Amino acid sequence: MAAVDIVGVRKAFGATEVIHGVDIAIADGQFVVLVGPSGCGKSTLLRMLAGLESITDGTISIDGKVVNLVPPKERDIAMVFQNYALYPHMSVFDNMGFSLKLRGAPKAEIDRRVKEAAAILDLDRLLERFPRQLSGGQRQRVAMGRAIVRDPKVFLFDEPLSNLDAKLRVAMRTEIRALHQRLRSTTVYVTHDQIEAMTMADKIVVMHDGRVEQIGEPLELYDRPDNLFVAGFIGSPA
Ligand code: ADP
Ligand code: MG
Repeated sequence: MAAVDIVGVRKAFGATEVIHGVDIAIADGQFVVLVGPSGCGKSTLLRMLAGLESITDGTISIDGKVVNLVPPKERDIAMVFQNYALYPHMSVFDNMGFSLKLRGAPKAEIDRRVKEAAAILDLDRLLERFPRQLSGGQRQRVAMGRAIVRDPKVFLFDEPLSNLDAKLRVAMRTEIRALHQRLRSTTVYVTHDQIEAMTMADKIVVMHDGRVEQIGEPLELYDRPDNLFVAGFIGSPA
């Protein structure tokens, strides 16, 4: 079980409030996409979920337990970023095992978990390579592998595909969805791309200027937008 509840969450940087009271309920195993224009607060919200940013007001709970003050390392959450900087001097195996090593996991366990994750992501034959010897898509899979090895309850993705070319982006959408079908981990995926949101989400959260405009299934938002912002944003390609 890993339901995530965001209730009345606000965020201010100094005197400027950028998230103005957001409520989002995420069911266990759901794939939720936060979508909205650049600057609307998607990354800030995700960083609060991860514990990388403090919460000014409101609560975030995981499985009913308020985590506002729980440090990132203890949250059982893994995050994949847009700039998924791999360690250039480490092999794929070491990149994937590094977080387990930091946590003091025994060598045999690191070995087992990295190999399991590599099998899932089709990286078996690339474990000895270094990042510079990989294609863009392979690097992206290593970045996901680093998240999977920890077997987190919740996956967070912040625009993971925006540095890839259009063709690879489409292929990786399918891969990430297939991965979710397999692992069934609760996932919060951030993008500014409405096509990505429409094709990937179980549930879409449309954000605008630090507020939630509408939450619903892709077709629901398309067919019955609550307001002009949602209609315009979901209805027109990026
Ligand atoms: P998005 O990810 O949707 O593009 P962000 O969450 O990055 O939006 O940013 C939301 C707003 O918060 C923006 O106005 C941004 O300038 C502001 N912001 C983000 N991080 C900081 C920070 N560390 N200090 C001050 N303002 C910030
Ligand atoms: Mg962002």
